[in-house]
Amino acid sequence: MSRRRLRFLGVGDSESINFWNTNLLLETESRRLLIDCGYTIKYALRDVGLTLGDIDAIAITHVHADHVFGLERFGYEMRYSYRRRIPLMLEPNIMSALWEQTLKGCMGRSSDGENRLEDFFNVKPISHHAFGFEGCQLHTFPTIHTPGMDTYGLIFDDDVIFTADSKPLDWLASDRSDRLILHDCSLQASNPVHATLEELIRVYPPQVRNRLLAIHYGDDLETYRSLIERELGGVAEQGNEVVWG
Ligand SMILES: [Zn+2]
Ligand SMILES: [Zn+2]
Repeated sequence: MSRRRLRFLGVGDSESINFWNTNLLLETESRRLLIDCGYTIKYALRDVGLTLGDIDAIAITHVHADHVFGLERFGYEMRYSYRRRIPLMLEPNIMSALWEQTLKGCMGRSSDGENRLEDFFNVKPISHHAFGFEGCQLHTFPTIHTPGMDTYGLIFDDDVIFTADSKPLDWLASDRSDRLILHDCSLQASNPVHATLEELIRVYPPQVRNRLLAIHYGDDLETYRSLIERELGGVAEQGNEVVWG
């Protein structure tokens, strides 16, 4: 298996101004798959020396702003500047929410007239919760997030689990593998739709916690850093990466 790299382009929650949106970049030897595309994506890519034109495909976990609002820029700039229509991978049941309820208002009309999502992207619905990218196998799984809003996490090559936005997951609490886990970690005392640090510590046993990196956290990270580093595997730092293969 060739080498894969997963870079943490952003690690913040939706309120953060110190960190970019929690968006990741999977890189194989020759191509780049963006995981989620929030409103800070151009700044996050600039920080690692890349532009929108360096991205070969995009996968989306759910339709909150910090995960999809960058698609407006992406779509327009790909269509009118780069003149490319890159693959957009998503679970079929978030398709309508993404276009009809989220992007159509700002992308449904352009100088070319009326548009569909397919005019901007090569839309590829994910079937059977799995897809490949340059030899990398990706699996999606449903997470527990905003009620009524379908949200999916991703497993990369059975090596790395990314929960995207989620409360703690029962199956993960009993996971006996050695897979690295990037887990949503709200630093607020309570939160109805994100796992709090207190919940991660309470729900997951030590053998899960010690391979779990906190991501999607708030600006007050330094207040909680020592607790995270004592109780969890650590902090997913913006700009850092994991490599496997
Ligand atoms: Zn969300
Ligand atoms: Zn989010």
